[in-house]
Amino acid sequence: MNEGGQAETPLAARIRALIETAGPLSVFDYMALCLADPQHGYYMRAEPFGAGGDFITAPEVSQLFGEIIGAWLVHAHAASGAPEKFHLVELGPGRGTLMADILRVARLRPEFRAAASLHLVETSPRLREIQKATLGADAAKVQWHDTPATLPGDGPLMIVANEFFDALPIRQYVRLQGRWRERCISLTDEGKGFRFVAGAGVLEDADLASSLAGAPEGTVIETQPLANALVQDLATRLAAQGGALLAIDYGYGRTAAGDTLQALRGHQHVPVLEAPGLCDLTAHVNFEALARAANLAPLRPRRLLGQGEFLLALGLLERAGQLGANKSEEDRDRIRGEVERLAAPDQMGDLFKVLVIAPDAVSLIPFDPV
Ligand code: SAH
Repeated sequence: MNEGGQAETPLAARIRALIETAGPLSVFDYMALCLADPQHGYYMRAEPFGAGGDFITAPEVSQLFGEIIGAWLVHAHAASGAPEKFHLVELGPGRGTLMADILRVARLRPEFRAAASLHLVETSPRLREIQKATLGADAAKVQWHDTPATLPGDGPLMIVANEFFDALPIRQYVRLQGRWRERCISLTDEGKGFRFVAGAGVLEDADLASSLAGAPEGTVIETQPLANALVQDLATRLAAQGGALLAIDYGYGRTAAGDTLQALRGHQHVPVLEAPGLCDLTAHVNFEALARAANLAPLRPRRLLGQGEFLLALGLLERAGQLGANKSEEDRDRIRGEVERLAAPDQMGDLFKVLVIAPDAVSLIPFDPV
């Protein structure tokens, strides 16, 4: 039994053995094991999404979300000079719902649909199967990738990522006696449960360390080396190949101290060190750091928008009105509820942010003045 009084998970036993032999495990390694361990990782075995899962993402809330993203992609393709061939890429497609909604909208623009080759970046074999089922006939045209590294090296890339970057492991550092020590996980004194400790490693990023040097003892800060490196790679490709990256996630626009690591299980927050492998583990995305990683001529990250602002500017209410026309009062209520959920500031509208990275010369609504 661990401290939560539950039976130990298989992954908890492995992590305990690792700590016993090699010492404390960094938050980074803990998160990587919990999410991506081939045998016991959360995305490899659980059914994370939807009402019966652990959390609901925007595409699962409403078809309106994917339809608006689809309309934006059609616009971005046209604004990029309507290339006759391009790669439509999704990072971390979950159940495949967003891509299915995008493709349904795209059928209204045959020239977009005909120009697109489909690429899904997904590590989980289980989720790949679900994506295949969701996409139906379109699945035959999809190329799956384990990592963005194998995406085609020529031709424009239109890349969309919803709640992908929050699932990449982060590092945490804790302020102790004037230093930023890497936050790690060790065993409780009784040896069964887990607890946070300060590890031997220290923060290497001198700029970040000095900008937050005045932080009080015990403050936690986070870095996202994987997310930043990935965006930097994608930006290098976009600079050479053309296209755009649309990243939607929950997070913050300015670097700040704070512990944002969280675990969700059955729609409830649970302690981060409880039931490893059985909970979704995420951290808020630092969009300032992502934008900096992508600031590479001739690319330019656009101003960061809230999800609500983005969806409303692109006609969320109008589309909801169309969808509700000739429907029952009950259906219209449901659609109104979905709009609220996606766009209201106290729901997903403000916490979720939209970052676009594209060549400077490409003018994109609603980010650039028209
Ligand atoms: N975009 C979906 C799902 C978000 S959950 C939605 O909005 O519903 C995160 C997704 O990213 C899952 O599909 C997960 O398996 C995938 N994923 C997580 N880490 C990954 C990695 N390092 N490489 C590729 N896919 C990853």
